[in-house]
Amino acid sequence: MRPLTDAQRATAVDLALAQGLIQRDERGEVVHAPLTLTPCPLPIETLAALEAQIQPWNVLTHRVASDLDFLRDSLERVRQSDRFIADLFDMLRVEETQAWRLLLTRSDYFMQNEPGRIGPRLCHVEHNTIAASYPGLSGKMASFHKTWLGLHPPGGVLVPNAPVEDMAQAVAEVVARYDHPRGVVLMIVQAGERNVFDQRILEQALAERGVRSLRLTLDELQARGRLREGHLAVDEEIAAVTYFRAGYGPNDLTTPEALAARRLIEHSSTVSVPDLATQLAGTKKVQQRLTVPDVLRAFVSEEEAQVLESAFVGLYELDHSVPPSGMPAWRLAMLQPERWVLKPQREGGGNNHYDAGMVEVLAKLSPEKRAAWVLMERIRPVPRQAALLNRGEEQHAEVVSEIGWFGTLFADGAEILRNEPSGYLVRTRPTEATESGVSAGYGHLDSLLVVD
Ligand code: ADP
Ligand code: MG
Repeated sequence: MRPLTDAQRATAVDLALAQGLIQRDERGEVVHAPLTLTPCPLPIETLAALEAQIQPWNVLTHRVASDLDFLRDSLERVRQSDRFIADLFDMLRVEETQAWRLLLTRSDYFMQNEPGRIGPRLCHVEHNTIAASYPGLSGKMASFHKTWLGLHPPGGVLVPNAPVEDMAQAVAEVVARYDHPRGVVLMIVQAGERNVFDQRILEQALAERGVRSLRLTLDELQARGRLREGHLAVDEEIAAVTYFRAGYGPNDLTTPEALAARRLIEHSSTVSVPDLATQLAGTKKVQQRLTVPDVLRAFVSEEEAQVLESAFVGLYELDHSVPPSGMPAWRLAMLQPERWVLKPQREGGGNNHYDAGMVEVLAKLSPEKRAAWVLMERIRPVPRQAALLNRGEEQHAEVVSEIGWFGTLFADGAEILRNEPSGYLVRTRPTEATESGVSAGYGHLDSLLVVD
């Protein structure tokens, strides 16, 4: 790969801006989102395997979220040492206020080469049940690459992508069914969000379907929202659907106002995406428990279980004794840190520990606190060379790509009425980084290129 000329780089920036591949920087200025100039190659078999994952994940999530006893049992010890998880539990509704459930989720994967295997294996990182971001911007990357690479990229076929369309359709159908003629979508957002345009793209896709949206922080909702005949009312509007792009971490729930607003949503009949049970079903602790074969099979069919398990990597509680060593996982991780990732019950990136930092954290954890963490085998994704563009600057680096697949599910009680794969997100980062966050400056938006 030869470096670009100044004129070529200016063209790449123009095309990114023309696509609306934009975000705000630390100062609030609009800049192009970090992106790749070379799409992510993958074999057709891997593409099919990826697409097959999201429907079973969403069935599983819906059933787990419907089993409050299982959630309580799984998270009991976490609750005792994690204030945030305890707060979420305290707000969980006991009486059903809404039998419908709408999921807008994303499951994330790496491709990893493994001994004795032809072609990479998909390795599941996690299933996001709250605030799964980039349905809007990710849908613009394949068009960007198509234009940038002159219609026909060498060596493969770009995979078209528009996750926001299915997601907006799923939301619009729920608004139309909702038992109030003038329902709107309430988007719960963070103040000063940098990835705001991704959210605005969903707002536009909803408007195209005749659905209006409001944007409020939890604190603002507390000032303007109330229960009206069981509905969630904001001023004169009724929120048929409440969609969270905030509320996934303790920083969004620090004030009594924010907690009260979260409780108000949960105790109204608005269709909350997600409801608290679904949010809890997405915790790392629950994901870890679901890697136990019998536990998984209590929620999904044998066929679904096998699809899910094909992408599992080892995930353990810290006190679990890991075969064949017989040692507790936390001790093994201190001896061989390069094989593990230590994860708390948090979302949004930047919370995991690796290598020497992980050893330090493990050494300080009391036996009671260990219950709030999980250890996951470290995935070593397939590397490649790529050209990256960040704030108009070009960088050539060895990179790895994390691929997410979005999906929508709608259920009325136990009956699943919709379950669709929506499209993908690829975030590509230099191999040495351990996080893929795009706003955080590590990840670069990318698209998929199917190769022979
Ligand atoms: P969060 O909910 O905070 O996004 P994740 O479980 O997705 O937490 O982890 C954050 C990032 O850490 C992922 O996007 C991925 O890049 C990296 N990561 C997570 N698990 C692993 C793993 N087992 N091996 C290698 N990298 C991982
Ligand atoms: Mg997550």
